[in-house]
Amino acid sequence: MAARFALTDGLPVPCLAWRGTAPRTYTGEETLELLLPGNPHLVRRAIARACRVPGVRPAEAGEFSARAYLNGTMSLEKAEGVSAMVAAESVEQLTAAAAVLSGAAGSYYRAWSEETATLLALVEAGIDFTDQEDVVAIAPRVLSERLERLRGAVRSTLGGAAGREAENGRARVALVGLPNAGKSTLFNALLGRTRAVASPIGGTTRDVLVEPLALSIAGRPTLEVDLMDLPGLDVGAQGIDALGQRAAAEALATAAVRLHCCDQGSFDELALSEGTRTVRVRTKADRPGWVEGAEVAVCALTGAGLDRLRRLILEAASASRGAVTGAVVARHALALGRALEALDRIDVEAPAELTAHHLRAALDAFGEVSGAVPPDEVIGRIFASFCIGK
Ligand code: GDP
Repeated sequence: MAARFALTDGLPVPCLAWRGTAPRTYTGEETLELLLPGNPHLVRRAIARACRVPGVRPAEAGEFSARAYLNGTMSLEKAEGVSAMVAAESVEQLTAAAAVLSGAAGSYYRAWSEETATLLALVEAGIDFTDQEDVVAIAPRVLSERLERLRGAVRSTLGGAAGREAENGRARVALVGLPNAGKSTLFNALLGRTRAVASPIGGTTRDVLVEPLALSIAGRPTLEVDLMDLPGLDVGAQGIDALGQRAAAEALATAAVRLHCCDQGSFDELALSEGTRTVRVRTKADRPGWVEGAEVAVCALTGAGLDRLRRLILEAASASRGAVTGAVVARHALALGRALEALDRIDVEAPAELTAHHLRAALDAFGEVSGAVPPDEVIGRIFASFCIGK
């Protein structure tokens, strides 16, 4: 219906209004949609005007889809597909989002989940009923073949995830910058313990150090990455140092995210490989001075700025995972990576209890994406990942 929308100063703006009656709307609730001329200034003012009506406020990130899910008009799978579609930045990510929305991804996940549950039942039968003649434990050869098929399917779907990520499925985050920039001290501060030797003498770090770092949002563990401290890159290095340098350069090439550390002046130019995100970190913020272009200032000694840095790492690592995994949305890639890790741990000759333990871990991980009722934490994570009201 054609209507007029009056701004605060009484200026009438032509618009189209559409009224949706519950439950036949996106959220399942009564809805009023206004279509305004595409002028950002006008839209901003219209929103400000609407928000003066008691009870009206801008939607939270993901709120429309969360309401749709809670009102039962949309499955979690669809909601996540919408989120992935909104956030997609490449053709691969759009394809991945479409696969979630259409339910194609979900049907693969369910099939893998069922196969894992079947294998678990067979293995457990071997444990529980060994004294009953008609129950035969699955033969190691058959188990091995079925596991191989399952792993192959998951691995090929994760596909592009290889290369820029460690085999454990964790994105690698490298600290880079000039010697003495404070990288090792920051490495220890982020881990919350002393792992690397920090020293005022430049070039103290000789080996590549890799440690898992758990990142959380509002106290909820969200993503684990591998944090790397590298020897400072020095073109003229020789002998042992040259070996360390080579290892550093190779490790750097595997990083999905770089934390570029600088304690004074300005960030030197880094040659970046495509797809690598860089977070510019001003280190030693307790000291006077100014670093041009820093996204975050930290002091590794007091911990100032570390929370913001963790958030930036989380955002960069999640985005880069989306970018490199390509065919799978980021949250799914994480869960599938965990499932694959558990399946890879299985040794068919090992005691059946151990096999059952790994199969259960894989089943839990598949459960996060296969539509088995996900824990609240997963639901929170899905809607929190929306970047706009949708
Ligand atoms: P790297 O060579 O980049 O790994 O640098 P280090 O972590 O070894 O640090 C070099 C020097 O800077 C050491 O003497 C550290 O104690 C000092 N340093 C590191 N972080 C800070 C900081 O946040 N504040 C201050 N004042 N000094 C720091």
